[in-house]
Amino acid sequence: MFYDYRVIVAGDQYIWKVNSIASYLPDDSFFLLVESSNQRVYALDLNSDISNSLSAECLSLRNLIFSEIGTESFIAGKANQIVEWYKSHQYCGACGGSNLPGEGQRVMHCPTCKTQYFPRINPCAIVLITRGREILLARSSRFRSGFFSCLAGFIEIGETAECTVHREIKEEVGILVDNVRYIKSQSWPFPSQLMLGFHADYVSGEIVVEPTELEEAAWFDIADLPSVPSAGISVAGELIQLYKEEIERIKA
Ligand SMILES: [Zn+2]
Repeated sequence: MFYDYRVIVAGDQYIWKVNSIASYLPDDSFFLLVESSNQRVYALDLNSDISNSLSAECLSLRNLIFSEIGTESFIAGKANQIVEWYKSHQYCGACGGSNLPGEGQRVMHCPTCKTQYFPRINPCAIVLITRGREILLARSSRFRSGFFSCLAGFIEIGETAECTVHREIKEEVGILVDNVRYIKSQSWPFPSQLMLGFHADYVSGEIVVEPTELEEAAWFDIADLPSVPSAGISVAGELIQLYKEEIERIKA
């Protein structure tokens, strides 16, 4: 359940049984199915705050995902993206008419001009750059202070993900890499990204930080890292963790 772009949470509960909340829900509540492997979950966007009646609170999605229950809250991120897409496609961008939800598939469609609107996912490439035992980490001006992560950027029209990796690295820190290989991906709901995780080997160049994107970038020994994202929450954290394990295996 969402109210004002926040999730209604009580303790570690953020999925509610319909019976327990039915009497508090407005009559025009619209349920959106969120597929889940082991349960049938619906997303609901409320236009009034019922958290007090449920002895609950409204938490931002970011606070929920970065909380202790975060690793379990992937479904809340997915629900949030579905709600956002539904709310922002009430009207047709081509003719201005009112859209209707499609039946049997996730689509909003315009009955007047027949335009269809499917949920849009924005692909991003994120890359761990390594130089022997060292990894390159950067601090974005958007991160809280002291928090470092891998370089990342949106894939532009016409680009392959590998092109994005080379371009972002060149633009943000000015170095050259090769052997760019895909590792794994992650859905990231801020607001609706697919993060494609890569690993690349350093080739040459000194770090020159692009100041509008980054506050700081540096090489760190894998055994002596600053504060980095947790492997359970973000693909950046997983890329770092995987490399750490690889180095430890080589050492053993
Ligand atoms: Zn239309």
